[in-house]
Amino acid sequence: MLDFLVEGILKSPLTERLPADSDAEIAALAASLDAAARRKLGRSLAIRQVDAGSCNACELEIHALNNVFYDLERFGLHFVASPRHADVLLVTGPVTKNMRAALERTYDATPGPKWVVAVGDCAKNGGCFAGSYAVVGGVGDVIPVDLHIPGCPPPPTAILAGLVALIRSAAQSP
Ligand code: SF4
Repeated sequence: MLDFLVEGILKSPLTERLPADSDAEIAALAASLDAAARRKLGRSLAIRQVDAGSCNACELEIHALNNVFYDLERFGLHFVASPRHADVLLVTGPVTKNMRAALERTYDATPGPKWVVAVGDCAKNGGCFAGSYAVVGGVGDVIPVDLHIPGCPPPPTAILAGLVALIRSAAQSP
């Protein structure tokens, strides 16, 4: 036990160190997303995440937005449990045949104005699952997509930056 404790104190952590400026970058991105949402909606942004058939690595990156480091809720942005309370649908994965109807129903249940963000390479065109007997295709093959965030999986800052760009352009349109 003592050896284990000494080893833990002397060895460097297993995780990579974050770049020194990332906290400021995240704070700036989240604050501008919240400001754009308030301009467009008059309140903070509500996000509903939909897994249409992903391998779940994209979910891990999205969930990281709520961990103690990113902590998006401190900027007023929040994930909601129902599409009826959502402004943005963050959809991951290729759309599987089993999830097609659920995705369509989720889209229909989301009140306007609403935006759909396809997260990850699979969400664009099926990615590495394209051509599978179980896959319909990308998210855009089932519901209208406003933005695609590439990556396999995209990191949390890329997801945040994509949301900022989307809501900013929406805030500038009438
Ligand atoms: S884009 Fe990559 S990480 Fe995301 S669901 Fe597809 S295979 Fe998984």
